[in-house]
Amino acid sequence: MTKQEFNDALLGFLDTSPTPFHATRNITQMLENAGFTRLYEELSWELEEGKRYYVVRNSSSVIAFTYGKRRDYVVIGAHTDSPNLKLKPNPVVKEHGVVKFAVEPYGGLLLNPWFDRDLSLAGRVHYLGSKNVIKEVLLDFEKPIAFIPSLAIHLDDKANKDRTINKQTDIAPIIQTGEEFDFQVFLKERMAKEGVEDIEEIYAHELSLYDTQKARYIGVKNDFLASARLDNLLSCYVGLLVMCSVAGDAPFMFVANDSEEVGSESVAGAAGSFFESVYKRICGSYEEFAKSVRLSTLVSCDNAHAIHPNFPQKHEPSHAPKINEGVVVKINANQRYASSSKTVARFLNVASGLGVKTQSFVTRSDMGCGSTIGPITATRLGIDTLDVGIPTWGMHSIREIAGVDDTYDLYRILLGYAHT
Ligand code: ZN
Repeated sequence: MTKQEFNDALLGFLDTSPTPFHATRNITQMLENAGFTRLYEELSWELEEGKRYYVVRNSSSVIAFTYGKRRDYVVIGAHTDSPNLKLKPNPVVKEHGVVKFAVEPYGGLLLNPWFDRDLSLAGRVHYLGSKNVIKEVLLDFEKPIAFIPSLAIHLDDKANKDRTINKQTDIAPIIQTGEEFDFQVFLKERMAKEGVEDIEEIYAHELSLYDTQKARYIGVKNDFLASARLDNLLSCYVGLLVMCSVAGDAPFMFVANDSEEVGSESVAGAAGSFFESVYKRICGSYEEFAKSVRLSTLVSCDNAHAIHPNFPQKHEPSHAPKINEGVVVKINANQRYASSSKTVARFLNVASGLGVKTQSFVTRSDMGCGSTIGPITATRLGIDTLDVGIPTWGMHSIREIAGVDDTYDLYRILLGYAHT
């Protein structure tokens, strides 16, 4: 796969994955196409050597794995969720001549970039269908149906100096003029377009706003990829491609968790039981599980902060990654990243063997540090872990930037890692 082919396909994955549910659906479709067999947690498993499997939880997290004789797994970890604005259960607000949606910020999003965007809506809905069965459907409205207008500078002459954003009052997206709007009808019309007709009653939804601007290349030399949700669908996509390329007898897993942006504590998050439960069932006994964990390595992939050319003072001078200068190994003395010299050494060995560049990131000592699923999974399982990612700008903005060389380099290294 060439760099161009790789990045073109990545753009398509980003555009068709507006929510963790859609990302999980796309991941599972690609696993199916690659010949993986789906397992269900609520059923018994009979694993066959040389085969490849996947498991889904909450429609928003997925684990894929090979099943062979060896138990020294390489595990690639990533997360399916990204910060966004999520509809409240009773979202409709009618006032001042318009209909608005009441929203709740999900995760640590940068709010400013959400103003003046052409927004659409996607997620899942649970409804009562025929025969008294509760069903789930994924929805994506696709076209722009909402926007959050900025307050004009004439009405706030301090806007460029000290405007702040109130999460309760300032960010409600507007969807139409007038008052004629019924949320249930609005959802039912869209569900009909998805082929759902047996709707007795809509009970609940998990719907989020997203930017309809497509992912694309930018820069005079097309050096950059611009998109929503690069954090962390980019890593999901890389992990998935590598997983699909691995033979059934090579010890390899891919774990994509939901809920990372809100601390990972959920039914489908890295702090929950999903990975541990699946891992134990693969191994068959606690003895085999305990041995396997100590033989295996998790490569936790999540984006890193590239040095911002307009804010260089925000970076540690000797550990400030540059865009298109290589995959970033993330290190933190206080274990906000789980990398150790042991896990870093193996990664650098693979990268240098392939002739692929790497960089290291350490946050400034006078600033806080983000985290990833790496330390959480390392703590929960006791698995040796490495935190890596590709350098990006604008993390948690509605539009993030990455480099076209770095994305491909991460793919090449993980591919090499999987085949060592
Ligand atoms: Zn992330």
